[in-house]
Amino acid sequence: MIQYDPDCFICRKHRKEIHIPGGAIYEDDLVYIGHAQIREGQATAYLGYLMVEPKRHVPGVAELTDVEAQAIGLMVARLSKVLKASEKAEHVYVFVLGDFVHHLHVHVVPRYPGAPREYWGIHVDEWPGAPRGGAEEIDALCMRLREKLKNE
Ligand SMILES: [Zn+2]
Repeated sequence: MIQYDPDCFICRKHRKEIHIPGGAIYEDDLVYIGHAQIREGQATAYLGYLMVEPKRHVPGVAELTDVEAQAIGLMVARLSKVLKASEKAEHVYVFVLGDFVHHLHVHVVPRYPGAPREYWGIHVDEWPGAPRGGAEEIDALCMRLREKLKNE
């Protein structure tokens, strides 16, 4: 039943063939949650930038089963609460782009207090003053989120 594409970065990550900082914040048979990677050529990532993905290799929201959609929606809501409570996010963005990567990944992105208005929206991670961190900070943040999620 699980659709898997051996050339897909997200499928390979779910199979632990690729390691990302922080590892899986949560996973079950349907859903995988992890922190966004540090982009190539950069030392740090925007902290708290999370991805919620179906385990199945499907391109978009339209291809989800009801059960997958419910699981993803629930986790998006829980992560948003946890980002506010644990990481002091002022607001949480949720969006899907998927123009180039054909394995659905729902972006769940905190906006931190003080973010200037010109960075609000999908460019919030470009704010130079945003909290950023390397692998160690991402690991620590994922640990905090894992703990908080247990209590949700
Ligand atoms: Zn995939």
